[in-house]
Formats: sequence, structure tokens, C-alpha cells
Amino acid sequence: MPRLYLGKILLRWCDACHAPVLAGVCACGAPTRPVAVTPPGDARPAFPDDIDRINQIFSEHFGAPLIPDGHIALLNKVPAEDRMDEIVLGGAVVGAVRYIPEERRWEPLPRPGAAAYLQPTKRYVVVDDGAIPSIQGKGASLLAPGLVSIDPAVREGDEVFILTRAGECIGVGRAKVDAATAATMERGLVVRTRKNTPSVPVPGEATWEDAVRANETALSEYEAASIRFVRDVAEQNPQRPTVSYSGGKDSLATLLVVLKALGPVPLLFADTGLEFPETCENVDAVAERYGLTALWVCDEETFWAEFEKNGPPAVDNRWCCKVCKLHPVGRLISENWGECLSFIGQRKYESVKRMQSRRVWRNSHVPQQLSAAPIQQWTAMHVWLYIFREKAPYNSLYERGLDRIGCFMCPSSDLATFEIIKESCPDLWEMWIGRLTGWQERQGLSRDWIERGLWRKRGDADEEEDSYN
Ligand SMILES: [Zn+2]
Repeated sequence: MPRLYLGKILLRWCDACHAPVLAGVCACGAPTRPVAVTPPGDARPAFPDDIDRINQIFSEHFGAPLIPDGHIALLNKVPAEDRMDEIVLGGAVVGAVRYIPEERRWEPLPRPGAAAYLQPTKRYVVVDDGAIPSIQGKGASLLAPGLVSIDPAVREGDEVFILTRAGECIGVGRAKVDAATAATMERGLVVRTRKNTPSVPVPGEATWEDAVRANETALSEYEAASIRFVRDVAEQNPQRPTVSYSGGKDSLATLLVVLKALGPVPLLFADTGLEFPETCENVDAVAERYGLTALWVCDEETFWAEFEKNGPPAVDNRWCCKVCKLHPVGRLISENWGECLSFIGQRKYESVKRMQSRRVWRNSHVPQQLSAAPIQQWTAMHVWLYIFREKAPYNSLYERGLDRIGCFMCPSSDLATFEIIKESCPDLWEMWIGRLTGWQERQGLSRDWIERGLWRKRGDADEEEDSYN
């Protein structure tokens, strides 16, 4: 996969505080070091459900969990066929988990640094001392003469740890043969070693409160710049200021900044009728906490009427945003104020289109709305640390393994996310599959259209960006 830079990678680590820091110097005074995450590098906190899922994947495969209690863990989504998250512990990438859609399972991809956190009891090989320099020093693969023993559970294609007789990890790689074959081989390739950029973790316990403290300076600077931006835009434009609130973390951080810059403003929330119940609850909770009016447009009937005519929305035919969000919001603005200024939680680290977007713009589908993006320069870590610092009520779905909150069946989602939703919200998911099945049968499409998620893409058109929030 090509490397995709949407901005400078800002993620660094303080080895004194054992926490991520978004600046060259930690608030404790210690210099920080860069974390070698794959670009775009928009890492986020691993929440308890993420940690459970990753520990389960590692335990099943290697016989031991990866992430210990009391340590800060981050996840960094990287370009992949479906979904792959790098795992950051102790300021290093210690591995990744990758979803394999054909097999409907997650695969752990450790890096040597993972051995600082787990001692594998399954799927490891032990090598002869003579083989250590070439494997450790040059990243050479493990050949049969260098093999001392191999765990009987190893099958061809498995990820394995490469250990010395003393139990030290000198590499990781993929087994090219199963354990029984390896035991009989006199020559040939046993494990192809994976070459990774060296990334050495410094383990240590810390809490998210510690991380917020470590980022005091960086957060204040980003907050001040965003408040200035909001005040400038509001001074230059006489329209009624509002916040487009989606129930997601980015619009929450945007709201917090706008409240500090301008005081109370109304919230605009476009309910497609396909929102998670938790998202609607969050809109209410946020409106109540900050004493705000939430103007709620709901257009569920329109969605299903359109579905009956055109089938489900797809990444290259996302009629849902126009029909259920942009048009109803436009009508709401016309009825209430004629025109308005809306602050939106768009960030450049989300996608190429958003990186290229102007910071103040008008959407051609909602000409009544002047949009502005106060947190355009923020990474997901800025957003989360800021929300933690402000103790703001964020959507509870983030704690259940979802990292992007929109309509529950958004065609832009990966299949791994749908599996998580299917488990945590079975009723919603069953309803959606029922609707898809209706369309699939009427159109004479194959079952694959549903099972392999083919409904998410229509044809050859470019993907459309959801242009609202
Ligand atoms: Zn520090």
C-alpha cells in the first residue's frame, strides 16, 4: 500500500511520563521522541473494548495477551484491504491486528517489541545460537539447520516469534511450513522474517489523566488557535453561528472550542433515522450539559422511500447524505434564519479531500450554510486529549470498539467494523440485513452481494466524500 501523508506526523512520546505527547517537549520538561507510526498517523486511544479484542486475538494465537493493565495503548489505522490497526505501547509500534474478510477473523501481526510485553507460549520457534547474528543483525530468514525446536501448534502461514535458547525474542515472521514438516527438514526455509523499522518500547504505567497533563502546553496552543479562528470567522460573517453536531468526537471538540469563543450556540443535528441510539442519546446529553438548543431534523421516511427506488446507498453513490442530511438541514436553516454560519468538525488528517478542503466554504447542496472548520489542523489525539481534559460527555460507542460514528450501516465502513456492530447492536444489524435481502431478491442478485459486502460499491465511479460531517 502506498504511504499517504495528510500532514506532518505529530505523535511523539515522553519516556518519563509513559504517555503520548503532541509536542517536542513534554509538560514535565523532558524532550519527547517520535513514534514511528505509518502515515497518515491519526492515532487514537485504545478503549477497554479495543484492548479486550486485541488481547483476545493475541491470546488465541500466542497464548498470552499483549496489552497489560495500567499502560496507555494507542491504535493507528493504516491503509489495508479491509482494516488494520497498528498498536502503540511504550512509544513504539509493537504490532498490528489485521482483519481478513474472506475468513472473517482477525490476525495478530507482532513486531519484535511485542516481546517486551508478552512471552509467547504458542506459535514460536527456538533458534540455534549460530543463527542469531544473521537473523537479528541482517533480518535474514530462518533456515532449517538453524532451527532447534518449533511449537507443535505452528501451521504454514502462521505468524511466529523467533526466540533464542535463552528465550529472548530476536525477530518475528511467517512460518513457511507447519511444525511437523519443519521437524523433518534438513534444509530450506522455515520462517520468513519480517523486516520492520526498529521500534523499541519503553514500558511503564500511566493513565489518560497523566497524558492530559503531559500535553498541557500543546493542548492550550491548539485550543487558542482554534478559538481565534472561530472569533475571526464570526466577526467577518454576520450570519447566525451554529455547530453542526453529529454525535462524534470531532464535532464535540469543535463545540467545546466554539462555546469558549462565542458562548452558547444552537446545535444542528441531522438524524437520518439510521443513527445508533447512543448517538441520539449523546446529542441530548451534550445539549443538556451545556444548556443548548438542539435543532433536530429527522427524515427516516425519505431514506426508505429512496431505498425502495434505488437500493442501498454505496460509497460511489452516497445519495443518503444529500437526501437525508444536506437537503433537510438546508430547509431547517431557511425556515429559522434564512442563512447561518456552521462550525463543523472536519479535520485534514481524515482524508485527502478534507486535507485539500478550504477552512471556510459553502456546500453547493446547502447554499444557505457557510461552513467553517476550527479543528482542521488537529489530529485524533488532540481531539481525544482535549475531550478528556474538558471531561466532555462523548458518545459511548467509542468505548465499544467503533472509531467512526455515523449511520450504523454507512457504506464507507469496512467489514471489520460491521462485524463489531453486528455483535454489539444485533437488532439494528438484523433489520438492515432484512432490508438488503429484500432488495437482493427483487433484483436477482447473488448472496455474495450481501455476505461479501458488495452492496457497498455500485460501479466504477470515484468514491464520494460525505460532505456534511
Ligand atoms: Zn513527560
